[in-house]
Amino acid sequence: MRELVFAANWKMHVGPSEAREYLAIFRHAYAATPNKQVWFFPPAVSLEATAGALDHRPDLLAGAQDIYWEPKGAFTGAISGPLASQAGARAALIGHSERRHVFGETDEQTGKKVAAALRTPLVPVLCVGETLSQREAGETLAVVTRQLEAALAPLVPEAFAAVTIAYEPVWAIGTGRNATPKDAAEVHKAIRVWLKSRTKAFSRILYGGSVNLKNAAELLAEPELDGVLVGGASLDPAGWAELVRTAAA
Ligand code: PEP
Repeated sequence: MRELVFAANWKMHVGPSEAREYLAIFRHAYAATPNKQVWFFPPAVSLEATAGALDHRPDLLAGAQDIYWEPKGAFTGAISGPLASQAGARAALIGHSERRHVFGETDEQTGKKVAAALRTPLVPVLCVGETLSQREAGETLAVVTRQLEAALAPLVPEAFAAVTIAYEPVWAIGTGRNATPKDAAEVHKAIRVWLKSRTKAFSRILYGGSVNLKNAAELLAEPELDGVLVGGASLDPAGWAELVRTAAA
């Protein structure tokens, strides 16, 4: 049976006390299930509270929404891999579409961040995906491949397996418009072909973009998906617990 990851990206929501309350409700509503892991990505200010409220459950993990590539120094407002790790993070989102499109993060910067996460060590969750105009222009696979190449270029191919990839079409994030299982599977397959041409090691590939209680089971019935990365629908602890519980492999 494949192992599924349910990753919750809280974006700029959920402060430290709210994180503790959220996790108390979530832990009560969701008991560990074989082959399911739940990863939480709170804002940096809530990392320590989130990690502390996981209650040593091995199926739950906390991660950072972003890290800077230098380990320390005069970088006001940034957090490094080692600082996130000290606050309890075991993973980090890298190159989320909001980092790329709102904050102007480049492909080259995502590469430095992936390498920094692995050095820490944190599991990098590398987000890739095309915009609507790129999809309409038939550029989806070219864009995703370019983002993969740039982000993984600093690594030896044997290290790729340590990177979780999240395919998140930009047009599906926070829009209520999700990719169909077939759309997602097509891109996941192309990512696997790209990875297999460089290494035998297996990388986990998640899908993200308007996943919710209604569509999660159908998406996860597609064997190309190793899990989901979810924003809006992860903000309510009871709803998120229900999604994780009911969206079977
Ligand atoms: C995300 O933040 O990665 C995301 C997929 O958001 P949403 O589920 O709200 O589309």
